[in-house]
Amino acid sequence: MSTTHPAFERAPEEHRWSGTLDELWPVLRKQAYEIAAATPPGQERWAWFVLPRGALVALRIRPDFRKELRIARGERPDTADAKLRWEREIETFLKHFGCERWQRIDEQASRGVAVRFVELWSNEHAVGLSRCADCGRETTSTPILSPMRCPDCVRARRGSPQRHLELVR
Ligand SMILES: [Zn+2]
Repeated sequence: MSTTHPAFERAPEEHRWSGTLDELWPVLRKQAYEIAAATPPGQERWAWFVLPRGALVALRIRPDFRKELRIARGERPDTADAKLRWEREIETFLKHFGCERWQRIDEQASRGVAVRFVELWSNEHAVGLSRCADCGRETTSTPILSPMRCPDCVRARRGSPQRHLELVR
């Protein structure tokens, strides 16, 4: 009897992955960048592999240059046990791929189950959003600025001795 999942058996040879997860990540990344370069604007195309136990793992580069990871299964986890297994499986992928901080988006899949994770910049806690380093208020993020400050705190800092200290550091 085969120990591999039917989804793995059905996948085309070039989309089956039976190596380690650590080896999968650089391959996915490379393919995602190649695909992104060849994808017309407005289209969503993914690098993807099916794993022996049936998980479909995909990666794309979004138009805003963030990576987006998608993990899916053909069968919906219906029992508490199955849900726990699914969450553990997701955690394992995130850990091996170094995506634990990314923003989770649960998909409303018509069949099966799918979840997406969008890359966050180092100063973000959600896509496009940072916390002000001074007052903690939520403010829109700028990729090149870290730490982020809200407009009020930026104004308050202007001309303060603290500000001058930071400039000469
Ligand atoms: Zn602030």
